[in-house]
Amino acid sequence: MKSKALFLDRDGVLNRESSFIKNPEELEILPGVEESLSDARDLGFRLIVVSNQSGIARGLFDFDDLAEIHAKLQIGCQHLLDAIYVCPHHPTEGCDALRHPCPCRKPEPGMLIRAQREWDLDLGSSWLVGDAPRDIQAAHQVGVRTLCVLGEKMPHENRWDDEPGSGEPPEAFVADLVEALAFLKQAV
Ligand SMILES: [Mg+2]
Ligand SMILES: [Zn+2]
Repeated sequence: MKSKALFLDRDGVLNRESSFIKNPEELEILPGVEESLSDARDLGFRLIVVSNQSGIARGLFDFDDLAEIHAKLQIGCQHLLDAIYVCPHHPTEGCDALRHPCPCRKPEPGMLIRAQREWDLDLGSSWLVGDAPRDIQAAHQVGVRTLCVLGEKMPHENRWDDEPGSGEPPEAFVADLVEALAFLKQAV
């Protein structure tokens, strides 16, 4: 039987939003994340992070730094995350090797498609929690339902229609991952 996934954006959902997290010291896990992930596991979700990290293309940090950041992230999440997918590319900025349009950079759904293959996921029963329109768009492109965390990227739900190309809104806006899980407990 295929599994369902809870896709998670990283910055602004699991850890405090910051323009670029360049080392583990800058990673601050948000309150309630560990319990929320545990609840999601209990609901039968695979927990899969999908994160744009163009700071690598821009030379702000490298893959070794990212590995250290994600080691700290996993510790803060009690090692509940099944997988962490990252797009290190940027279409117009940074070093030659990583500067190109990429099918995995959200709003493109490449990371979700790859996870679907590697984890044998049923996308139709999967959800994504993100905090930016491009997170929501990536999920909707492959039939994954969505919840949007209100925060720096999306300060108010009424702003949704002002976002360029924002597309279909999420099923609900929530304050944080804790509220997202409260919603999912009712919905699934
Ligand atoms: Mg984010
Ligand atoms: Zn990429």
